[in-house]
Amino acid sequence: MDEAAHITYNKAVEELREREYPMLQGTTYLDHAGTTLYPKSLIERFSADMVSNLYGNPHSASNASQLTTRRIEDVRLQLLELFSADPEDFEVVFVANATTGIKLVMDAFRDQENGFWYGYHRDAHTSLIGVRETATEHRCFATDAEVVDWIRQPTQQDGRARLFAYPAQSNMNGRRLPLDWTQRIRAANDKGATYTLLDAAALVSTSPLDLSNADHAPDFVVLSLYKMFGFPDLGALIVRRSSAHAFDKRRYFGGGTVEMVVCLKEQWHAKKADSLHERLEDGTLPIHSIMALDSAITVHKELYSSLEHVSQHTSFLAAKLYKELASLRHGNGQKVCQIYADLASYYGDAATQGPIVAFNLHNDSGGWVSNAEVEKLAAIKDFHLRTGGLCNPGGIASSLGLAPWEMHENFSAGQRCGNENDIMRGKPTGMIRVSLGAMSTLKDVDSFVAFLREFFVQSKPLSAMAPALCEEVELSSTSRLHVESLSVYPIKSCAGFSVPPGQAWEVYPEGLAWDREWCLVHQGTGAALSQKRYPKMALIRPSIDLAKGVLRVGLAGLLKGTTAADEITVPLSADPRLFADNAVYRNASAKVCGDFVQAKTYKSSQISAFFSQALGVACHLARFPAAGSGSGFSPRHSKAHLQKYQRARSLRIPGAYPDAAPVVPGVCVSKPILLSNESPILTISRSSLNRLNELIKADGGKAAQAEVFRANIVVAENPDCPPGLEDPYAEDDWRYLRIGEQYYEMLGACRRCQMVCIDQQSAERDEEPFSTLAKTRRFDGRVYFGEHTCHVPVEDSSIFKQNPSITVGDAVQPYREDEISQDSRLWSLVG
Ligand SMILES: *Cc1c(COP(=O)(O)O)cnc(C)c1O
Repeated sequence: MDEAAHITYNKAVEELREREYPMLQGTTYLDHAGTTLYPKSLIERFSADMVSNLYGNPHSASNASQLTTRRIEDVRLQLLELFSADPEDFEVVFVANATTGIKLVMDAFRDQENGFWYGYHRDAHTSLIGVRETATEHRCFATDAEVVDWIRQPTQQDGRARLFAYPAQSNMNGRRLPLDWTQRIRAANDKGATYTLLDAAALVSTSPLDLSNADHAPDFVVLSLYKMFGFPDLGALIVRRSSAHAFDKRRYFGGGTVEMVVCLKEQWHAKKADSLHERLEDGTLPIHSIMALDSAITVHKELYSSLEHVSQHTSFLAAKLYKELASLRHGNGQKVCQIYADLASYYGDAATQGPIVAFNLHNDSGGWVSNAEVEKLAAIKDFHLRTGGLCNPGGIASSLGLAPWEMHENFSAGQRCGNENDIMRGKPTGMIRVSLGAMSTLKDVDSFVAFLREFFVQSKPLSAMAPALCEEVELSSTSRLHVESLSVYPIKSCAGFSVPPGQAWEVYPEGLAWDREWCLVHQGTGAALSQKRYPKMALIRPSIDLAKGVLRVGLAGLLKGTTAADEITVPLSADPRLFADNAVYRNASAKVCGDFVQAKTYKSSQISAFFSQALGVACHLARFPAAGSGSGFSPRHSKAHLQKYQRARSLRIPGAYPDAAPVVPGVCVSKPILLSNESPILTISRSSLNRLNELIKADGGKAAQAEVFRANIVVAENPDCPPGLEDPYAEDDWRYLRIGEQYYEMLGACRRCQMVCIDQQSAERDEEPFSTLAKTRRFDGRVYFGEHTCHVPVEDSSIFKQNPSITVGDAVQPYREDEISQDSRLWSLVG
C-alpha cells in the first residue's frame, strides 16, 4: 500500500470503529498487546448462535452432543486454515491461554527419561522463562548472535531431550524475531533431538503466521486467541504431528484423555490413541468458548478480510507513532522519549517490528519522569496504555541496563511490579508501552502525541513556572493568616466532616481527633477500600456527634435510597463487645497503603449491610484502635519528608549545601499515624488553591473544591489582606506553624494522584485539577499540592495543662527555615 492507500484504509477503519467498538467512545485505546477488544458483531453473532442452538457436552449420542462435537472439529480446522496449516501435518489442542499451552509442552519435557535441556531467548515472556525451573539444564540467550552461533555448533549427544523457545514477537517492544530459526535448528540437528517452541501470542494479533511448510515450522506454537479477537478467552497449542511423540512421556492424565483406568489393586491406564488433542485436553473442553471462536474467526474476516491487511495498517501507524515520539523535543532541545527499539528492527518493516513502542520520558534536564505519574495522567485523560515490567524481565533488564545485582537491590528496597517506586538509584525500573491493533487509527496516534506534548514537553524550564521563590515577606508580629476551616475524615476515603466554627478540636500526635479512625474493609480480601477504586465512597457522609457520643453516617446524592436504613450510628467509644471475635476471619488485618494494620471489624450485620448496599461491594466497617491503647499492635509511622525541590530551596540560606539537611532537623521524625496515608495532618493553603483554580478556569476547566484534597487544615489570608498580597505556594518554604498557642512541623509536600479528580458532591471523575496540577506543580516528575504536617507536643507540667486543640479562626504564623530562631518558644522546642 502506498501512503494514499493507507489513508483510505484508515478512513474505513474509523468508520468501522464507530460501528463496532461503541465501548471506545471518548477513550484512546493503546493496549492491544495486553487485551484486544472484541467487536460488537462478534458478541451479537455469538449470542444469536447460543440462543438458537442447543449444544450438549460432547461424547454422548444425543443430537445436541453430536452437534457440539461436529462444530468443534470444524473450528479446529478453521483455526489451522488461518495459519495455512495443513491438518495432515498439524493438530490443534485447545488450552485456557498461551501460558497453559507452554506448560503442557513443559510437562512433556519434564517427564522425559533424562530430563531436558532448555534454551530461551532474552526477549521471552515471563511464562516462557518459568519453564527453566523444571529443566535439568538451561540457558538464556542474550543476543541473536548467540542463538545463531549455538545453531552452528554440533549438538552434544548426551541422550537428553532439548527444547528451544522464543517469542515470535516481543511483548515488550514489539520486535519480531527471525522465524527461520526453527528451520535452521531442525536442519542443524537433523537427529531430531532439539525441539522448538514458538510463542506467537503477541505476533498473531497483528500479523499473519505461515505454517504452510511443515518442515520449516516450529514443533509447537502457542497462541492467545483473545489477543487476536478480543473474545473468547481461549488459547491454543498447535503441534506438528511428526513431533507429537514428544508428548508420549507425559505422565499426567485427566478426565477425557484415557480409554481405561484401573486403580484398585492394580494401577494401570490406557491413553486415548486416536488423536493428540484427545490425549492432551484434560477435563471438559471449554465448548462455549470454542463456539465463540467460530464466530470470532468469521467476524474478523468480515471486518478486516485478512491478517495481512491488519499487519500493513498497524505497521503504518506504528511507523508514524515512532517517528513522532522520536522527534519530540523540550524547549531546550533535550529529547523527550527514550525509545527501546531493537537494533535489528525497523519501524515500518513488518518482518522485524510489530506495532508497539516501548519508551520512557525524560524531563528537560535529562532526568526521568516517573511512570506512576504518567499512568495517573493517562487514567484521567482516558488513555489506555501499560507501564511497568510488562512481563518481560530479560527485555526490560537489557533495555534499561539493569544488572542482576541492581534488580536484587531494588527488590530488597521495596520495588515491586506496579508500585510507585519506579525510579531507583537514578534509573527507571520499568517502561511505558503503547500498542496498536486492527482498529487503531491515525487519530489514536495523534491524540497520544498531543497528550505527551500537553503534559510532558516543557517549553520552558519548570522552575520558571514555579511561583517566585525569593520574595521576602517580613515576619510581622501580627499574623496575616488564619485557619479558614478544619476537617476530619472519620472513615478513610469517605466524605469529610467539617469541624463547627468555635469548637475547640483536640490534636494528638497521630492527628486531629477522630480523623481516619475507621475504614471499610473488603469482606473477601480484608483490604481497606479507597475512593480510587470506589469513587462513590465520597457520597458516604460521616459526622461526629460529640453530644450524643456517636459517629453518624448518612448518604448523599446517588447513594440516597440504596440502603434499608437512611442512616446508621456507631458509638464513638470502642466498646469491645461491638467487634467481631478475634478468632473469626473478619478480624483479618486490613491492608492500608501496603502496610498491615490490625483493624477490628464491627460484627453488627446491620452496619455491614448499610455499607455493602450503599457501595455495591461486600464490606465491613472496621476500627483502628487508637495508638498507645495497649492493644498490642504497632502503629504505622509517617513516611512524609521534605521533597527534594523543597530542600533545594534551602540554597537561599547562605552557606547551605545543595542537598544538605535542613538546619533544624525536625522533631516529628516517624510520627505514629492512624489510617491516613502518609502523615498525621494535611494542610493546604487557600491562596494556592485560588491560584490553581485561576489557571484551571483560564483554560475553561472546572474549578476544584478544597474537599478534593482531603486536607485537615485550610489556611487562608485574613479577609483584610489586600487581593494582590496573596502568597500562593508560600507553604513550600514553611518549616513550622504556630496555630493559636500550638506549634506544628511541616513534614514535606504531599504527592498527588488522580483521586483529586473525584468530585466530592457527585462522585464523578473529571480531568481537573490533576491535569493543571501536573502542568504547574510537578517537581522531579511528581505532582505536589499541600503539606504534610504534625503537631509538636509541648512539655507542660503546670496545673493548667490541657489537651492541645485547634479552632477555626485561630491565627496562623508560619516560619521559614531562617525564621525559626525569631520565635524563642519555637526555638526552645526544636533548636
Ligand atoms: C500475552 C503473552 C503471553 C501470555 O499469554 P496468556 O494467554 O496470558 O497466557 C505469552 N507470551 C507473549 C509474547 C504474550 O504476549
